Amino acid sequence: MNQYSSIINHQSSICLFPGSFDPFTLGHADVVERALQLFDEVVIAVGINEQKAGWIPVEERVRAIRILYKEQARVRVESYSGLTTDFAHSIGAKAILRGVRSIKDFEYEMQMADVNRQLTGIDTVVLFTDPRYASLSSSLVRELAHFGKDITAFLPEGYKASPPTPLSKGRGGSLRQ
Ligand code: ADP
Repeated sequence: MNQYSSIINHQSSICLFPGSFDPFTLGHADVVERALQLFDEVVIAVGINEQKAGWIPVEERVRAIRILYKEQARVRVESYSGLTTDFAHSIGAKAILRGVRSIKDFEYEMQMADVNRQLTGIDTVVLFTDPRYASLSSSLVRELAHFGKDITAFLPEGYKASPPTPLSKGRGGSLRQ
């Protein structure tokens, strides 16, 4: 650090955390918390999949995640359609952020990161999961909810006040226990 560093680094660094977040879990929240140590701003972006409605409607996912971060000015929550890299450029993101739990995640993320960087120059920052959340996935949470199990242990505290409402049909039960 010198007298010029604040001038040189005046541009705030934004990272884009794209995903389905159906639902947003403690594993996702941990990645966001840690990314806030590395970037000035984290934009959580729920990808709209035209082919798949998902369990919780996209607007509901966005609403619920926004409530979780209402006190955190450095986190924004959006939805987007189309290519992740296009959205990343449109918000001026310096990097794409992803989480990795396993070799399977690793291989997938490496391939995506490689293609994205070659095509658009945008790099991907990967955070390895905290071991507490290594087995946690949104699909596991949906599966448990489908069978009427209590899933609150896998979701951020803030969800308790205003949990997102899933679509009644599809694989998944209620988030309200
Ligand atoms: P996608 O459909 O894009 O994989 P997800 O919502 O399932 O969307 O995941 C978004 C990102 O969060 C992915 O990079 C995924 O690997 C990561 N992720 C999901 N669960 C965890 C977890 N428990 N720990 C760390 N990273 C996770």
